[in-house]
Amino acid sequence: YTGKTGSELLTEKIKKYKVQEYHSVPIVVQESASVYDAISTMFLEDVGTLSIIDENSCLTGVVSRKDLLRAAIGNQDLSALPVHIIMTRMPNITVCRKEDFIIDVAKQLINKQIDGLPVVKDTPNGLEVIGRITKTTITKVFVELITDNQI
Ligand code: ADP
Repeated sequence: YTGKTGSELLTEKIKKYKVQEYHSVPIVVQESASVYDAISTMFLEDVGTLSIIDENSCLTGVVSRKDLLRAAIGNQDLSALPVHIIMTRMPNITVCRKEDFIIDVAKQLINKQIDGLPVVKDTPNGLEVIGRITKTTITKVFVELITDNQI
């Protein structure tokens, strides 16, 4: 018996959750693709944020729902507007790696006021996108934690 309280044990458990076990598949769009294509992909894949990649499949930016809405109210031809023009670009992208802790990702989402982070792997060409962590992921972890604790 460790003498630890229930809340201490729960805290220890939460701190051990890693990105690796919980991240979703990446949804990516080429930076040369149009804003129109990005909007289509967002609907088809049912996601709120897209990772934007270059020809080496490396992360160059992200595009959110609001980025696309902003572009859409600008009266431009969306099929002639490349998505790299409107994206939030590197190096201003907050990323995480599979060995990072979920709790640190959650803190980043709050501090930066964003919905998700790309999960990346370092390669000689840049950052390869291998997944994504969103507020939905964090909600699932939260529910799993409570459900597990009741057994
Ligand atoms: P939305 O704008 O659809 O509510 P977010 O709150 O996630 O979605 O995005 C807010 C802004 O932050 C957008 O301009 C978006 O491009 C940018 N953004 C989203 N995710 C990241 C990230 N991981 N790193 C840096 N900027 C991001």
